[in-house]
Amino acid sequence: MSPPASDKLKMAAHAASSPSPISNPNPSTRARSNSHERRPAPSGKAASRVSQVADHLQPSQSLPSTLRFEMSSQEFKQAPHKLLVIPGPIEVADDVLLANAHPSMSHVSPDFVPVFGDCIRMMRQVLYAPNSQPFITSGSGTLGWDQVAANVVEPGDEVLVLNTGYFGDSFAECLEVYGAKVTQIKAPIGSKPTLDEVEAALKQKKYKAMTFTHVDTSVATLADAKGLGELVARVSPETVVVLDGVCSVASEEIRMEEWGIDVVLTASQKGLGCPPGLCIVAASKKAIAAFEARSVPPNSYFASWKKWLPVMRAYEAGTGAYFATPPTNLIYALHRSLTTITKGSVSLEERFKMHVEASNRVKSFVTELGLKQLVQDGFKDGAHGMTAVRYPEGLQASDLLPKLVAKNVVVAAGLHAVVKNEYFRIGHMGVTVVNDKERGDLDHLLKSIKEALLESGYKPPN
Ligand SMILES: *Cc1c(COP(=O)(O)O)cnc(C)c1O
Repeated sequence: MSPPASDKLKMAAHAASSPSPISNPNPSTRARSNSHERRPAPSGKAASRVSQVADHLQPSQSLPSTLRFEMSSQEFKQAPHKLLVIPGPIEVADDVLLANAHPSMSHVSPDFVPVFGDCIRMMRQVLYAPNSQPFITSGSGTLGWDQVAANVVEPGDEVLVLNTGYFGDSFAECLEVYGAKVTQIKAPIGSKPTLDEVEAALKQKKYKAMTFTHVDTSVATLADAKGLGELVARVSPETVVVLDGVCSVASEEIRMEEWGIDVVLTASQKGLGCPPGLCIVAASKKAIAAFEARSVPPNSYFASWKKWLPVMRAYEAGTGAYFATPPTNLIYALHRSLTTITKGSVSLEERFKMHVEASNRVKSFVTELGLKQLVQDGFKDGAHGMTAVRYPEGLQASDLLPKLVAKNVVVAAGLHAVVKNEYFRIGHMGVTVVNDKERGDLDHLLKSIKEALLESGYKPPN
């Protein structure tokens, strides 16, 4: 016997707010969608939430049933799965995944164009950069390096790369592919170049651009973005300051304009909490001016701002334009996630604070267990969206990671080539942090780490 429709709605609402699927893996307690079933329209608070979250998903009664899309955010709940706490991709909220299931749309339709325009406007908010030009294209974070190398830098230009790990190596390699002359300041593993070292380098040579990895995801160092921006403004104001924010946008505060950062590049699948597939770059007026003053055209086709700038401007103006097809569904997902980030119940400032608190909690927990981080003073110099933890003496990845997987927790192995086998990485970003009260992700994560260590024979201090 099936319960009355009103009860079903309540069950669905309950399931949508129940704790993390890991702690509630029984499919019978989850709301199942059934596209053949007709439901009465929800009323009151539920109705406003449904229309707020998924107004574009509401059924059109005039369409034949095969063309209806009848799932509200309260009814949709992703399948139970292992908790994904790597530094990206991260856990994606149900409403974002549901937005990604939008019916296929023309990329120039009048319904889609303003959604794209909103994403551009909301990215400026996330970066505190009202005068910047965002570029949103298909691709991943890596394409952001190509965009910098092909548009801001010309072949033969000098570029200073502050290298704090794996991603610094890669950015330098990418720049060289396009003909830049790269000078690197390499910091020892787990630390970063000092402002004095950078100042000395900037005074030695005129650099067209300086790049740094805000959070080097291979080791969890956090760069002093504000200090670096201010330093360049003081000693080499023509140099374009490029921040690789693939792991930091939306999990670390970035006051792009105030700090003097000229390019921020990122991707959808880390702090922004979307599925992978979008490359997002924001360029300051200075970066755009450097692009416009080029003596040779951009040396890339797909990554060319010459192609993308008019497209971005057209979407923002509400007309739309075509160079290469944008991933329309991902744009809906990004729109959903950015709406939560910029207009949700948790303010942007509060979001960053919550990441700091979650980071302190994770770092304190592993410290109390007697474990060390790759970053020497992780509380002071470490990222807030991730932590890199050394295995205790005598333990290795194969002792710990499979035990965590058995507890439905997926962390990441080491990435920095030199110390790859000596540590693991935990991501604590997005819904795992901001919605932790309902989800209980951090409790589950920390408890599992402790259990896995004990099962491996590790004896914590006292
Ligand atoms: C993940 C990451 C990248 C690469 O991004 P992809 O989306 O994997 O191409 C670049 N830089 C940093 C700091 C990253 O964390």
